[in-house]
Amino acid sequence: GFRTIEEQNRLYALGRTKPGRIVTNARGGYSYHNFGLAFDICVCNVFKGTLIPSWSLDRRWFRVGQIGKSLGLEWGGDWKSFKDYPHFQYTFGLSLAQLRAGKRPP
Ligand SMILES: [Zn+2]
Repeated sequence: GFRTIEEQNRLYALGRTKPGRIVTNARGGYSYHNFGLAFDICVCNVFKGTLIPSWSLDRRWFRVGQIGKSLGLEWGGDWKSFKDYPHFQYTFGLSLAQLRAGKRPP
């Protein structure tokens, strides 16, 4: 979903200037989340009728990656430098520089 520039900067600080682990390589304005063109998902297990997020990497992540790509989405699991398995985006062919400059999808 959508993240403000401030929210993105807070996430970027994790594992760098704030405690926690690094969860993104994108500063504010450098993520498609900041323009409402990305979302993250989680694979879950069902335990006693409750959905429990499962962050361990297993074949289900690759299956949802395949499904997302079959719908025309870009999947963060395909990225080379920073694998982001929960992440999907649809850019409309627009670069982040174009979006930062104010260009928007139709
Ligand atoms: Zn994401």
